Amino acid sequence: MWRLLLMGTLLQSTGIVVQCRNINLILPSVPDVLHPPVPSSQAGYNIRGDDADGLQSEEDIDPEVRPGLFQGDMAMNNEIFDYWRVGLRWDIFPEKLWLNRTVPYLISPLYETEHRILIYQAIRTINFLTCIKFVPWTGKEKDYLLIWPVKYPSGCWSYVGRYGGPQIVSLQPPDETGANCLGTDGRPIHELLHALGVFHEQSRSDRDKFVKINFENVIPRT
Ligand SMILES: [Zn+2]
Repeated sequence: MWRLLLMGTLLQSTGIVVQCRNINLILPSVPDVLHPPVPSSQAGYNIRGDDADGLQSEEDIDPEVRPGLFQGDMAMNNEIFDYWRVGLRWDIFPEKLWLNRTVPYLISPLYETEHRILIYQAIRTINFLTCIKFVPWTGKEKDYLLIWPVKYPSGCWSYVGRYGGPQIVSLQPPDETGANCLGTDGRPIHELLHALGVFHEQSRSDRDKFVKINFENVIPRT
């Protein structure tokens, strides 16, 4: 049985074989619960729900703002956090750059067909508008994106840049509470950009030159 290392989580082969373009792919098993990294200084930063005096029920939480993840949807460690700005600095993290502008990907077979199509549309849009090439994983590439409806943390989230090995991009499919990450191709594009190494616009190093904060509107921490 072959094994795959996923950001510290040992993944075992499911033994499930899917056929894609006449190629047999053995899928790794993704556990229900993952433990994506978060900068230690930011731990608890996004905790909502239980500690919000019940004001925010679980159902009301934006799928792009999940407990524990940095700015709601990014899994990153202390090292990356120390150098954050609008995108990863390739001079400091050259190993996190996808090689040859090429990003192999696999869309989970757990998605409904219409949702797989939506994710594929997002991939096609990035391929069309940029020099990045998302290509279907052939089963041979060591590093690839595993686009998966992770159960916990659910929602729309991604690691930042290439981590090595199978790398989760979590896209929660629609359910009775709403469209979650797959209402349009916007959220899949957003999370895929994180996987390329892009942060949020509000993370720009020159942000403070353009933002005026009305401190009288800020509720002080107790
Ligand atoms: Zn984001």
